[in-house]
Amino acid sequence: MNPRSLIVFLAALLSPYASQLGATDHAYAIELAQYKSKVKATVDAFRRNYLPQMSAEAKAVDADVQYTIKETFGINAFARQHQIIMTSGTAVFFQWMAEAIVLGQKPRYQKCMSTYINALVATTLANTGAVEDHEPLHEIGSPITFFETEAAHDLACPKPSNGIVFSEREQAFIGITVGSSIDLLLLHEIGHEVLHHVDSRPSSKAESRAREQAADSWAAAAAGDAGLDVTKAVPAFILFAVADPGKIELEPLLDHPLGGNRCIAIYDKVIEHLRNNSAFNNQLRADGEYDAYWKTASAARQQLLALAPQ
Ligand SMILES: [Zn+2]
Repeated sequence: MNPRSLIVFLAALLSPYASQLGATDHAYAIELAQYKSKVKATVDAFRRNYLPQMSAEAKAVDADVQYTIKETFGINAFARQHQIIMTSGTAVFFQWMAEAIVLGQKPRYQKCMSTYINALVATTLANTGAVEDHEPLHEIGSPITFFETEAAHDLACPKPSNGIVFSEREQAFIGITVGSSIDLLLLHEIGHEVLHHVDSRPSSKAESRAREQAADSWAAAAAGDAGLDVTKAVPAFILFAVADPGKIELEPLLDHPLGGNRCIAIYDKVIEHLRNNSAFNNQLRADGEYDAYWKTASAARQQLLALAPQ
């Protein structure tokens, strides 16, 4: 794979879907529209519920920018002057990752789903290279459709007898996971605006990386201080890690700080700020969830460490 394609991949992630769009089946297009609505609803809820508790700088950015949600298969989010752009494809990636995490918690599907997560990540990267080199794209669908593939058969994945139906509790978990992932990505882009990164291009790779770290750090602190729990945004953490696979030979070409380390740095910063947020902790106590919350948070860190590509 041409290393330069890593830069491109953010715009080309779910192209296998796009290749099928020309066919008679419009189901994919309908699905994309739904994911666009999900991103838009999450952005709206964030602005309504959390932005009012954020800094004056964050509010000024919010008043200045236009939020644009593109209905594309690409996975991408970026900030430029007066505009923050996100895509529906990003939410598809988050959804599939969240579904795989839920299925992977069932002993029956555990092995299959860790393979699926690796396959989703690998396909993502391979398609990036394929797009740039004009090669055929590799297809990957949702975790449930993965059970129909040869790769799944090779693994002797258990065949779900009546398909897989997520329980209400699981659906709620998936919804929170996808929503939190969108929040974290959005905060990262707002961070670029607040820190004036959109005013000029970085003059070097080192500066670019420093900016990414600063946007991460701003996002994590802002989330924690506003009581926005993005610790469940595991798909976003994985995306951040995948966006930078941490291969040292590629490092000079990459915009983002190194993979798994980047995830944990953001996670720990969110936790640090949530720990110091007395309103957040008082609410947990009032709900009788204080102990359970912090216990889950440390378990989630272990899960993130296990899932994030190193
Ligand atoms: Zn960035």
